[in-house]
Amino acid sequence: MRNSYNNNSFGSGGRRPRTRSTERISSRPSTRTSARTSTRTSRRNYTTSGMPSQLFSPSASAMTYSYGSNLRRFLPLIAAVFLVLLIGFIGFSCANSAPVKAKVNGKRVGLPEENTVAMAITEAGINTTPGSLVAVDGSIIKENGGTPFTATINGEPAEPRSPVPNRANVEVTAGQNIQEDYYERLTYNITDATSDDSWGSIREVKGVSDEGAGRAIVGRISGVMVEKEKPTFEQQGVLHMFDIETKERVIALTFDDGPWDETTEQILDILDENDAKATFFVVGNRIDEGPEMAALVKREYDSGHQICTHTYSHAFEGAGYDLGLMTHDARVEDVTKGQKAIEKATGSKCNQMFRAPGGNYSPTTAASISPYITYEIGWTLDTLDWQKPGAKAVEEALLTASPGDIVLMHDGGGDREQTVEALRAALPKLKDKGYTFVTVEELMNYHQPEKSEEASGGSDDTGDGKGEEYEEANS
Ligand SMILES: [Zn+2]
Repeated sequence: MRNSYNNNSFGSGGRRPRTRSTERISSRPSTRTSARTSTRTSRRNYTTSGMPSQLFSPSASAMTYSYGSNLRRFLPLIAAVFLVLLIGFIGFSCANSAPVKAKVNGKRVGLPEENTVAMAITEAGINTTPGSLVAVDGSIIKENGGTPFTATINGEPAEPRSPVPNRANVEVTAGQNIQEDYYERLTYNITDATSDDSWGSIREVKGVSDEGAGRAIVGRISGVMVEKEKPTFEQQGVLHMFDIETKERVIALTFDDGPWDETTEQILDILDENDAKATFFVVGNRIDEGPEMAALVKREYDSGHQICTHTYSHAFEGAGYDLGLMTHDARVEDVTKGQKAIEKATGSKCNQMFRAPGGNYSPTTAASISPYITYEIGWTLDTLDWQKPGAKAVEEALLTASPGDIVLMHDGGGDREQTVEALRAALPKLKDKGYTFVTVEELMNYHQPEKSEEASGGSDDTGDGKGEEYEEANS
């Protein structure tokens, strides 16, 4: 295979970003209650039966009388001391009567037979600081998304669910960060590119030869690309296109030209209500309009949506719709400045997918900006909302979505009331049909080109072979 993105180029990771469940620490006082009741009963028996009768002799009561006032003064103190001792004794008995006795960071705890490290930590009343889920560049994707804590049992590493044996010594420290899954891709130093006559909504530039290619890793959640090795020499590139092939009922909703007054916020609310994740292709100079606009992008990011640049100026020097009409330097600046505007608003490294203004992406344009992006993202379903055909028409377009579709909509660039209304009506209906709404980055993880090739019988007129552009390893 002459192509770069074959099986070997994408060695690591599974088909989907592995969601690692974080163990919830549950307090489970069940066995404790019964232990306490039984202890209390036995103690009561002891006091009544063991009470010495001499205490009530006449001499004793006379003494009590003569020192009565002093004794009365100390009675509350005596009672308090007694109570403390009693509580201490009960606690001790509980720990003692529990089937499993252990120490957590030096503190004694009693545990039931069926127990876990997480239970022991709760029992000991220890608060641990969880780690975070971090991107390939080390930036935080989700606070508390890491392991809840790190534990050892008698010096051996333990999981939150590990059982604690009797007389064990459990040591607990703060949780650790978990790094997102990633895939590898080759990078090229490309002077210009030609098309390979492929077709599809997702476009990328590859080198003609993998010899001298560089190497980068891309986070499967963040979409952040980190260069590991630089390409060693310049070469011609090939612009290759493909669509996401999947049978799963997943759709990527995409919104262009925001952030925008009111509509962006309304769309975010609707997405929240429907548990939907989407991708926003934002325009840099819109973000710089003011703090409210930057706050909208931050809200998009914090809600788990994917934010990518749609350039800084919407290709202003390219008549507002075509980077191809601009110089190489101007193209690079419009893209990278757009990414920086996002990073300023979100405080995190920008996802390196990109949507070209007007969808215009010639091989030459692609070659110019290829070092700064992973993929140019087009669409497979245009709702034509920008033509304002009426909310009903936009809704009907949305309802024609099929598995793997990338849906084009706009939250900015004009009055988007119809888009909002259509979305509000269509999302619950699509959910009823079994669809979930994912980011483009997530949608990539559903791509199963081998299966589609079998299904279609393959069209090998380009000799290109499908599915080599984004190949997942076994999961
Ligand atoms: Zn646009």
